[in-house]
Amino acid sequence: MQKTLFVFSENHWLVPANLNFQNLFNALKPDEFTDIDASDSDHIAFEKDNGFHHHFVDLHNNPVDSAKYVKTSIREALYLIDEANFKYLAKAWQYAQFLRHHQFCGQCGARMQQVQWEMAMHCHKCHHRVYPRVSPCIIVAVRRDNKILLAQGVRHQSTGFFSTLAGFVESGESLEHAVHREIKEEVGIEVKNLEYFGSQAWPFPHSLMVGFLAEYAGGELVLEEKEILAADYFDIDALPKVPPKLSIAGRLIEETVKRIEKMHQN
Ligand SMILES: [Zn+2]
Repeated sequence: MQKTLFVFSENHWLVPANLNFQNLFNALKPDEFTDIDASDSDHIAFEKDNGFHHHFVDLHNNPVDSAKYVKTSIREALYLIDEANFKYLAKAWQYAQFLRHHQFCGQCGARMQQVQWEMAMHCHKCHHRVYPRVSPCIIVAVRRDNKILLAQGVRHQSTGFFSTLAGFVESGESLEHAVHREIKEEVGIEVKNLEYFGSQAWPFPHSLMVGFLAEYAGGELVLEEKEILAADYFDIDALPKVPPKLSIAGRLIEETVKRIEKMHQN
C-alpha cells in the first residue's frame, strides 16, 4: 500500500509547491515532506482505501519555512480538488482538530490518550471516551412560484454571495423541525413540501450540511438582523452572485432554477 501524508501547519494544508491536484495522492508521498519537523511516529493513520494508506501530521502553529511547500486553506482546497478526494482532506482536518481539542478529559481534567484501534480519545482515570463530533446543519432552497428565496448572511458579506438559508440543528430537533424553525427565525416565513436533496461534509470546523428543497407556504419577509443583511425572492433570469456549484448551496440553487424552467415549459 502506498502511504500518503496530509500535513497541517498554522491551520492550513501544506502541499508541495508544484503539486498537480489531478494526481493528488502520488504527490503526497512522505518523502516529499522530509523537510518538516515531524517523525514517522507523529504520522496518524486515518484511512485505507484503493491501495492508499492515508496519514496526517499536525504541526499545530509551527510554521514551515521552505519554498518547497505552499500553504492552502481548507476552504480553498474545496475548489482545487475534486469531491472524491476532498473527503480525505476533510476527514484528516477534522481528526487533527479533534485530537487538538481533546487533550484533556472534559469530565475529570486528566490527560487523555488516543485510542489505537478507532478514532477516539480515552481518559484512563474516569474512563470517559470521546469521538470526533459531527454537527448537522440544514440548508434549504425555498421556491415561491417562479422565484427563489436567497439571502445575504452576515458571513457572506465579504464574498457578496446571496445564498440559501442554513443553520445548525439544535438538541432534540429533527432535521425537518430545524428547517421550519430556522426559516421562521431568519426570514419570518413558513414553508411546505420539504424534500431531501443531498448532503455535503463541511469541515469548517465539523459540520454536515443536509440539503432540502422547499416551497413557500405563507408569511411576509421579516429579517433577523443579527444574521441576515438582505433577503428577497429572485427571478431566475436575474439572480444575484450565488455560491459555486461545488458547494451544496450552489447545487440547491441550480436544482431550483431547473425546476422553475421546467414549470415554464409545461
Ligand atoms: Zn476523565
